[in-house]
Amino acid sequence: MSNPTDVVVVGAGPAGLAAAATLGRHGARVTVVDEQQRPGGQIYRQPPTGHTRTGRRTEAGRALLAEAAAAPHLDWLPDTVAWGVFGTRAGLDDYAGPAPAPGRLRLGVHTPDGGRTLEPAALVLTAGAYDLPVPFPGWTLPGVLTAGGVQTFLKAQGLLPGRRFVLAGGHPLLLVVAAQLVAAGAHVVEVAFSQHLRTLLPGPRDLAAAVGNAAKLAEGAAALRHLRRARVPVRFGTVIRAAHGDPELDGVVLSRVDAAGLPVPGTERTVACDVLALGYGFVPSTELARQAGCAVAWRPAEGGWIVDHDDWMRTSVPGISVAGELTGVAGAEQAEVEGRLAAYGTLQTLGLLDADRAAALARPVRRILARRRRFAAAVLSRFAPDPAALNALVTDDTVLCRCEEVTAGDIRRALCDHPHLGTANAVKLLTRAGMGLCQGRSCQPAVCRLIAEQTGRSPEQIGAFTAQPPVKPVPLASLAAAARQHDDQG
Ligand SMILES: Cc1cc2nc3c(=O)[nH]c(=O)nc-3n(C[C@H](O)[C@H](O)[C@H](O)COP(=O)(O)OP(=O)(O)OC[C@H]3O[C@@H](n4cnc5c(N)ncnc54)[C@H](O)[C@@H]3O)c2cc1C
Repeated sequence: MSNPTDVVVVGAGPAGLAAAATLGRHGARVTVVDEQQRPGGQIYRQPPTGHTRTGRRTEAGRALLAEAAAAPHLDWLPDTVAWGVFGTRAGLDDYAGPAPAPGRLRLGVHTPDGGRTLEPAALVLTAGAYDLPVPFPGWTLPGVLTAGGVQTFLKAQGLLPGRRFVLAGGHPLLLVVAAQLVAAGAHVVEVAFSQHLRTLLPGPRDLAAAVGNAAKLAEGAAALRHLRRARVPVRFGTVIRAAHGDPELDGVVLSRVDAAGLPVPGTERTVACDVLALGYGFVPSTELARQAGCAVAWRPAEGGWIVDHDDWMRTSVPGISVAGELTGVAGAEQAEVEGRLAAYGTLQTLGLLDADRAAALARPVRRILARRRRFAAAVLSRFAPDPAALNALVTDDTVLCRCEEVTAGDIRRALCDHPHLGTANAVKLLTRAGMGLCQGRSCQPAVCRLIAEQTGRSPEQIGAFTAQPPVKPVPLASLAAAARQHDDQG
């Protein structure tokens, strides 16, 4: 089957928008798929279609959205979930009909009209990241949210999901969200960072990383000033221990941590609140790339498993490139320049750009990328959560897999009863953790941390849950429609 699309870009955040606009400008026919109603991704998120709010965007966000809107040859598929890639792994094609035409990849998508497949010559995956879920007693109570989730309420709908907020975790996003909450009129009771302040302060080696990245530092400083003015206490060396309430959150227990980041017994105190926003960092959304068979690498400071790529953002699977957070969590500016690099690489593969011109166009982009990577490496290493400290928050009764209701005790017992178990997949098969609707997006990091603690194995030995199509929940009718599309043509 032929298809007029040369390239499908999955994700319309900074990486996807930059990739799509660059591809379109150089003559590629591009389809952009995003599960949101409007482009922008996490950072430039726009209110849903028909909503009267305009949303607040930075200059960079406005410029990128305008550039993509004006780019030629772009077809938009909003409200559309990409759920599987075919033609790249033996044995998977039955899901969506016979193998795609030579030189084509097949992407299964669920649109508001049902299911279908797209057959581009190339795919650029820019699916972003999601908040790292961190389990502890009470974390499943209504009222316990992620910091990114709270921000989504604010950005998408201008809503405050409660009245009294506590923010806890270890990521700089906590400061940004706390400042946004204060600006929106919320009562922020406390911001608690698990790290001690001395471990976060920059050292002489960080000066080089700061050069050219003043705007990012200024954003953090402005958020802190805003919180000071509003008299919001920002405490360091303070960790969340438990959330209480029946049937909803009415308070949290916080305690001090020692130099190793472990809770100090006897220092617990209860703080009344109706929303707890957790911000421990982000997990790259690698599931579609892993399902397609792209090689991944373990980079804990960048969010865990990231997708391997070359200098043109091309993965180990021919025709598939990546950009943005799934190459390592590093911020919007880095995502945007990686998107442009992925476009230049893909344009060469399509024969729409020669190597010399691509190298010339990429040169300034690579300079920006080097600067961003230096900054991200300096910042991320400092804020990366410590696995032992996160494991210390979990009791045997704590649910890790919310979909299948598997507790930490279930995992620990399975590992004790079956000492030969040592991989994420083996534990999944025995306990059902990771087999539910979210396919392990929520529990995988916590399950793997427990396996590492109990077996002494490395993250590389433990691996990740195998990503299977559909990587996100879609109606069965949509899968059937995708398969029928090819049966009818056969
Ligand atoms: C919750 C959250 C809040 C953040 N808040 C801030 C902030 O306040 N300040 C800041 O500087 N940085 C923030 N960041 C980081 C910043 O948003 C990212 O660095 C930047 O947006 C990354 O760009 P991206 O294009 O890689 O991914 P994203 O902007 O995340 O875009 C990815 C897009 O892919 C789409 N997508 C994913 N999977 C599929 C699929 N299977 N099918 C279809 N569409 C799909 C998503 O809907 C999304 O629109 C936040 C990140 C997250 C996750």
